[in-house]
Amino acid sequence: MLRRMTTQKRMVYQALEDLGHASVEVLIEYLKDHNEQISLSTIYRNIQTLLAEEKIKIVKLKGNDVLETVKVDHAHFICEQCGRIEDIMVDQEKIISKAAKGCIHQIKKCDMAFYGLCQKCTKETKGERI
Ligand SMILES: [Zn+2]
Ligand SMILES: [Zn+2]
Repeated sequence: MLRRMTTQKRMVYQALEDLGHASVEVLIEYLKDHNEQISLSTIYRNIQTLLAEEKIKIVKLKGNDVLETVKVDHAHFICEQCGRIEDIMVDQEKIISKAAKGCIHQIKKCDMAFYGLCQKCTKETKGERI
C-alpha cells in the first residue's frame, strides 16, 4: 500500500518535471493521458503531499497559480504571445537583500517574471513582416 502511494507520488512529480510549469488542470490532463488508472483524488492527494514536503511549489504567473518542481532559485520568462514559460537563472537572494535595504517590512520571498516575445514568436513575427 505504502509502496503504491510512493509510485504514484513519483509519477505526479515526474509529470510536473516533464511539463516544467503547469496549472493543476494541465497536470491532471497530462497524468490522465499517460496513465488512465490514476484517479483525481489520488492526483490531488499527491499534489498536497508534494507541496507539504516542499518538493513542488506554487508560483503565480500572469495571475494564475502554476505548479513547478522545486529547483534552484530562479525567475521566469513569459512569452506574451504564446504564453510559454521558461526559467531564467537570476540570483533573487541578491535582489531581496537590495530591496530589503529600502524597505521597513520583512521580505520573505521574491517572485520575478520577465515578459516579452519568445524565440519562436520572434521568428514568426519577423516572418510575417517580410
Ligand atoms: Zn512565444
Ligand atoms: Zn520555473
